[in-house]
Amino acid sequence: MRIANRKRFMFSCIFFTLILLLFGKNQMFYSRYSAVRGQAVVEAAKGKDGFSKVKQNNSRYTIILDAGHGGIDKGTSYGNMYEKNLTLKIVKYEQEYLQNKGYNVVLTRDSDVLVPLKEIGNRVNAANGNVFVSVHVNSISDPNFNGITTLYYDPKGYQSDERTKLAKILENESVKSDDWYNRGIKKQNIAILRYSKIPCALVECGFITNKSDRDKLSKDNVLRNLAENICDGIIKYINNRE
Ligand SMILES: [Zn+2]
Repeated sequence: MRIANRKRFMFSCIFFTLILLLFGKNQMFYSRYSAVRGQAVVEAAKGKDGFSKVKQNNSRYTIILDAGHGGIDKGTSYGNMYEKNLTLKIVKYEQEYLQNKGYNVVLTRDSDVLVPLKEIGNRVNAANGNVFVSVHVNSISDPNFNGITTLYYDPKGYQSDERTKLAKILENESVKSDDWYNRGIKKQNIAILRYSKIPCALVECGFITNKSDRDKLSKDNVLRNLAENICDGIIKYINNRE
């Protein structure tokens, strides 16, 4: 080999070594990348699988939601703020939240119509559901009264423990955001709670006659938080029963 050739040979050797090193590194990088990607794919599949399993499990449950009042019965009101509109908004947020988690949801009304109380009872019992929750807004002459109350009723002690438990959970969950005052639970003979054959409760979502509550009720994000909190209560109740 001539000096020039030897130099060329040496240069080629170094060049190929460099190429090999680079290629090797790339290979390593690529295999590491695909390992990470592979892991991510497996995790996504697992997550997806787990998620759909949860959804499938949740689809065993039917939750019936009732937006208080409707149509010619606007419920309580303050100015142009009507109970029937607030309850429908809250219930629709609840429906969206629960359906996203895979639960079956039945609404006693999904538009501005009046469903007679007896018919609400019929719809609840025909739905073959697990939990029934009615949403209302309170009012009273004393403007200082504020906060959320959950009402329950156990006709002749029917489902007494279950209904009390549901009311307590709903009450405690519903006040979890936006500084709602917890007025506790109250037993009250209400037609729809009397008609219902399944565990049920009625959440009175604040007082329209109280300035601070009214401010809350005028904000969609507060209504959404409230709806999601009530749903968390429903889910907690369902999971505690198993
Ligand atoms: Zn009402």
